[in-house]
Amino acid sequence: MTHDFRRIEIVRDVDADDYYFADAILDRLSGQEISDLKTELLQRKESDRPKYRCPHCSTPLFVRYRPVLNLPLSLDHRV
Ligand SMILES: [Zn+2]
Repeated sequence: MTHDFRRIEIVRDVDADDYYFADAILDRLSGQEISDLKTELLQRKESDRPKYRCPHCSTPLFVRYRPVLNLPLSLDHRV
């Protein structure tokens, strides 16, 4: 990473060509929808058409969800 990384609050939606608060995207999702979005972002990264990018470094973002580690749900550089 070329920037000082903290929790990413704003993400770039490539499809909409606009910026959104990560919490606004994630807060309205059910458990199943979180799982579906996680799969979608992984698949789109694989096919080189990521949906969300970091506004700082443009790296594709994933759903990061580690309830076992008690980490908050977020959109992040790593899964
Ligand atoms: Zn970044």
